[in-house]
Amino acid sequence: MKIFNSLTRKKEEFETIEPMKVRMYVCGPTVYDFIHIGNARPMIVFDSFRRYLTFLGYDVNYVSNFTDIDDKIINRANELGISASELASRYIDECKKDMQGMNILPATTHPLATKEIDGMIELISKLIDKGFAYVGHDGTVYYDTTKFKEYGKLSHKNLDDLQSGFRDIKVTGEEDKKTSTDFVLWKPKKEGEPYWKSPWCDGRPGWHTECCVMAPKYCKGALDIHAGGEDLIFPHHENEIAQYEPVYEEKYARYWMHNAFLNINNQKMSKSLGNFFTVRDVLSKFDGNTLRLFMLSTQYRAMLNFSFELMESSKASLLRIKNAVDNILFTLKNKNVNVDKKAYLESIDIFDELVVDLKTCEEFSKSEIEAFDKICEYTKMYFDKLDDDFNTADAETAIYEIVRVANQNVNENSSIEFLNGVLLILNTLLYILGIDLSKEDKGSEIDEKLIEDMIAERSEAKKAKDFGNADEIRKKLLDMGIELEDTRQGVKWKKI
Ligand code: AMP
Ligand code: ZN
Repeated sequence: MKIFNSLTRKKEEFETIEPMKVRMYVCGPTVYDFIHIGNARPMIVFDSFRRYLTFLGYDVNYVSNFTDIDDKIINRANELGISASELASRYIDECKKDMQGMNILPATTHPLATKEIDGMIELISKLIDKGFAYVGHDGTVYYDTTKFKEYGKLSHKNLDDLQSGFRDIKVTGEEDKKTSTDFVLWKPKKEGEPYWKSPWCDGRPGWHTECCVMAPKYCKGALDIHAGGEDLIFPHHENEIAQYEPVYEEKYARYWMHNAFLNINNQKMSKSLGNFFTVRDVLSKFDGNTLRLFMLSTQYRAMLNFSFELMESSKASLLRIKNAVDNILFTLKNKNVNVDKKAYLESIDIFDELVVDLKTCEEFSKSEIEAFDKICEYTKMYFDKLDDDFNTADAETAIYEIVRVANQNVNENSSIEFLNGVLLILNTLLYILGIDLSKEDKGSEIDEKLIEDMIAERSEAKKAKDFGNADEIRKKLLDMGIELEDTRQGVKWKKI
């Protein structure tokens, strides 16, 4: 598998520090409000990437923090007249609800910055001891960017360029800063702000120090992958490298993965433009599966444009997939085969074994052998695309092709083995993208028992030649968004 490494600006073969183990850290949100759909992009992309690594057999230690202390949190808490920790814990809970709504698996660890202050003080002390940091007259601790010779290696800028960019920017309270690119590791408390004791002053850590302490602590050493949105390359990630590498004298992260931005109607998302959507807003209109299908419909390094029209189109695509799966489930049900709707294959080993077994399956008809060959080709395309810098856009295309072949070939004469095989392949490919079809659509919580009962009642009415009542029931179901189709095997229903 190849991934694009922002550090080298090349696609590189993925090789882990420890065999078959992945240490992965993704910068999480600052929790001062509901998360917006821009924040959802790294969450969905890297959750899918993690699922794929797990499927490939890697043991993935996936760490993603919550930034629970920051100016924005303190300001908002003051506005609301509550403490910063109360505000942060409220929005961590809300964020977790959104993550669940988007089928995001909980991280192995979700560290909180405020619980890791001791580690941050320790790191800052080491940087001072080694001459990479200095203390101002008020107890502010600064990182000395001139001391780290590789400063700028991630953002591919040299110190002169970076400094000229900063020339006119003077930040009040940072008077002792020696160079414009130097950054704050520890800052003194202001009136009414939360603070911690330190050797330098009562205060709190800078944001760049937080991730750089939590990541190696919970990943247990240097990282295989450090990920986040592209806005974090500079200064956040550049500054993390600058703190870790002089202290530990090893490379901080092997691969840096950065997702491009999500824009709205081709404009930058911003509160002032009024084109700002929270995940909660979007999930009130669309389900998490649709949002995932949409987010992954563009490769993660390309800009993604959000609009409700595009979401509608993802919804239609999802429905096409769901109808194909429902059709397989219905056909199996008519053959008295009970299937687990949630079933998917958990690893590539089992997956490959299944495909080999099915290719030689004696129950397959001639047309099924041909159809299955095509499905295998598209499955290979799906994995090849994911192996090429996680191109989920083309992987989705492969799924649509499989759906097309399934629709052409699934009918009442299909063999149980063919139906089960196609179902497992589709479910598995969808599972890796975090799409769970057993989860019902938003706004149409379907009561399957009620539908089956109404269908039975309609059949009774038809038997009794009470066609008025039968039509009435069909109409009622249609109003509920359920369409009936009378087939030789019985009545089939689908959502419209
Ligand atoms: P923040 O809460 O601003 O620290 O952001 C949390 C994560 O969301 C970071 O990885 C950001 O890079 C990412 N992010 C924020 N806004 C966007 C956006 N519009 N598009 C894509 N990613 C974003
Ligand atoms: Zn971070």
